[in-house]
Amino acid sequence: MNNTESPGLYIHVPFCGTKCPYCNFYSITSFSLVADWLDSLRKEAIIYKDRFAAFDSIYIGGGTPTLLAEHELAALIDTLFRYFTFSPDTEITIEANPDDITLEKPTLLRKIGVNRISLGVQSFNDKELQSLRRRHSAAQAERALERIRASGFTNIGVDLMYGLPGQTQAGWVQTMKRALDFKPEHLSCYQMTLENGTPFGKMSTDGRIKPLGEEEGRSFFLITSGFLEEQGYIHYEISNFAREQKYKSRHNSKYWQHVPYLGLGPAAHSFLEGVRWWNLDSVESYCRALDQGGVPVAGTETLSQEQHLLESLYLGFRTSHGIDLKLLNNRPRSDTILSELQESGLIQVHGGRAMPTRDGFLVADGLPLLFAG
Ligand code: SF4
Repeated sequence: MNNTESPGLYIHVPFCGTKCPYCNFYSITSFSLVADWLDSLRKEAIIYKDRFAAFDSIYIGGGTPTLLAEHELAALIDTLFRYFTFSPDTEITIEANPDDITLEKPTLLRKIGVNRISLGVQSFNDKELQSLRRRHSAAQAERALERIRASGFTNIGVDLMYGLPGQTQAGWVQTMKRALDFKPEHLSCYQMTLENGTPFGKMSTDGRIKPLGEEEGRSFFLITSGFLEEQGYIHYEISNFAREQKYKSRHNSKYWQHVPYLGLGPAAHSFLEGVRWWNLDSVESYCRALDQGGVPVAGTETLSQEQHLLESLYLGFRTSHGIDLKLLNNRPRSDTILSELQESGLIQVHGGRAMPTRDGFLVADGLPLLFAG
């Protein structure tokens, strides 16, 4: 269990202007419940106010947090600082969509304490953006990045996606190049997945959209990693790149290292002392549970020692930091398996850790199974 580092605080803002057809995050497109949700969030904060040590990261995600009005965002931050303690250098991230970045927005965000923006650009190609039914254009994304930088933000993350319908590898490299023109401190590059229950998932079942084949997915991944490393970025997690060590996402790193975190809001997940719990994924049910003096929890899971170990391997092999070899003490044949993985060029072993190579990232999800009891 890793309780030595400060915990992280996640806030789920469950409101979006429109639903993107590939997205399976919980959100609704009506804003009529924002005030109730904010009030319920305050009640939920009170429940957990003495259970966590001082946080050093806040991640306001969703949903589309930047659609909230200034006074709503300010009230949210006020609630957090009223009931929880934070270290002085707390990383405060907000997820933003380019079309919400008005001239004033970045300054307002800085005023309420936000010091990191994660901008959901996805692509710098207008045709691709239209196929994703995003509300912004490439020009709007560029303008948003200019405005964010001009307002004084020194920690900007850009989210991009590859494997989009009709996207070529050359087109993907163009998108990455345009992102790099703005020198973002952080880049997340995800392969689009066609999730069940989403419109794109259904179109994939009907054969109207073709998912990226395994070989193509592999090729996109290798191009991404190779190109961004050549540009000086550190490939520190399968889908994440930082311009310098200090720009790795502090908050997301907690998920990958089993550091405790608290998630407030509908559908948010939390983890503390080997127990994981997740909230009801409906704004109405979430608010009702808190109104009635209850907790809005939908489920709880206590990790057994074996589950905890396998999760640590699973999460660790997805990051360049890898796994602590002590985790493999007493695992049958672990030395032999490690040597074989090293010989195949999938991991490197030094300093008491086993770390995946770029090729290792491609098979990271299968590596823990080799050590399963
Ligand atoms: S991708 Fe973002 S903006 Fe689109 S529906 Fe999902 S959370 Fe909302």
